[in-house]
Amino acid sequence: MSQYAVSAPPQPSVAIRGESLRFPVRRIYCVGRNYADHAREMGFDPRSEPPFFFTKPADAVVASGGEVPFPSRTGDFHHEVELVVALKAGGIRVAPARALELVFGYAVGNDFTRRDLQAAARQTGKPWDLAKGFDHGAGLGPIHRVESVGHPQRARLWLTVNGEPRQSGDIADLIWSVPEVIAELSTYFELSAGDLIYTGTPAGVGPLAVGDRVVAGIDGLGEIEHRIGAPL
Ligand code: MN
Repeated sequence: MSQYAVSAPPQPSVAIRGESLRFPVRRIYCVGRNYADHAREMGFDPRSEPPFFFTKPADAVVASGGEVPFPSRTGDFHHEVELVVALKAGGIRVAPARALELVFGYAVGNDFTRRDLQAAARQTGKPWDLAKGFDHGAGLGPIHRVESVGHPQRARLWLTVNGEPRQSGDIADLIWSVPEVIAELSTYFELSAGDLIYTGTPAGVGPLAVGDRVVAGIDGLGEIEHRIGAPL
């Protein structure tokens, strides 16, 4: 007999490259505006303020090869290729010098965004949840363990739509480094094993349409692919 009055939701999880064990997703944190060229294209001065964060629900994860239904209530649905950090341990007020000890591995992610709702939220001082935290809004590839890929300092990241280049950058150009992001985030939340951090996207974000094939990659972490499906 179940201890719950309604059926318990499944534990969201993601593949670990080359293994049958999976990585259980607890929370998804995301960094806004973490590449200078993207900050500028959105109209902001890089490093003029500390990193800021928003979240997505854990069950928004869509594995590589999956379909992302075109979301409701938007006319401007965007892609954002990002380096994703997966944590194996947590903490509060983690020192930057110790932050990498928490990292389990790294993956390629796509921070899907309802750009028109984000712009409206910004203008009216409202939260970003509707723009960022929707169903199927977190594209995510398999996680590569630190033991096999180390802690990447520089690597090209890129994204194509139907084979056409859209985004290109290098994780060396992150405004706030992975240790800085983990340290700052841990002053707001107690981090824990199973947490994912989307670290931000370079310039070139743009719209997606039903039927599009979106491929994103980071050198050393492989590439991920999603098809934009019909609205649910
Ligand atoms: Mn993003």
